[in-house]
Amino acid sequence: RTAQEALARLTVDVADWPTPGVVFKDITPVLADHHAFSAIITALAAAGRDDHGTVVVDKVVGMEARGFILAAPVALALGVGFVPVRKAGKLPRAAHAVTYSLEYGEATLELHEDGIAPGERVLLVDDVLATGGTVDATRQLVEACGGTATGVSVLMELSFLDPRSVTGDLPVATLLTI
Ligand code: 5GP
Repeated sequence: RTAQEALARLTVDVADWPTPGVVFKDITPVLADHHAFSAIITALAAAGRDDHGTVVVDKVVGMEARGFILAAPVALALGVGFVPVRKAGKLPRAAHAVTYSLEYGEATLELHEDGIAPGERVLLVDDVLATGGTVDATRQLVEACGGTATGVSVLMELSFLDPRSVTGDLPVATLLTI
């Protein structure tokens, strides 16, 4: 509850950014507040535990760039490793790549081939779930490694963009639904 309140109170709506007609959710003030930051990390990490509090994931994956800021402390909170999913051309070693369509054009995300071991259970973490394309591409990357994406944990879901029509049966944990 504290995490939700802090998120709602500190997130700033930025009109017409990055393009006219878009209202961007700026979460940087949430990160700048220690109590809020700590509360949202604890809340995001809950998706990596079962009802008894047992950790049920082997890795936490964060998507460039804001996903990194959240996924790394979530991994530490759960006592598991962190793995980055990056934009095309940033990873230094052999990587799987998935290209997906954006509103205008397309984007490619990459994951090191040995970033996830076969059979590993993976929690995806990002700040905002919008159209669902980023999460779906990341799930495909995890599966290309032989792992399983067991769920995604986000701060905010923009439900008016209908992301679950893209993320399908992947369980979504969200602190705020907009
Ligand atoms: P999707 O692929 O679901 O359309 O977009 C999600 C990705 O775009 C996430 O990685 C997220 O960081 C970014 N994103 C889209 N809209 C917003 C927004 O309003 N605020 C923030 N902070 N990120 C957004």
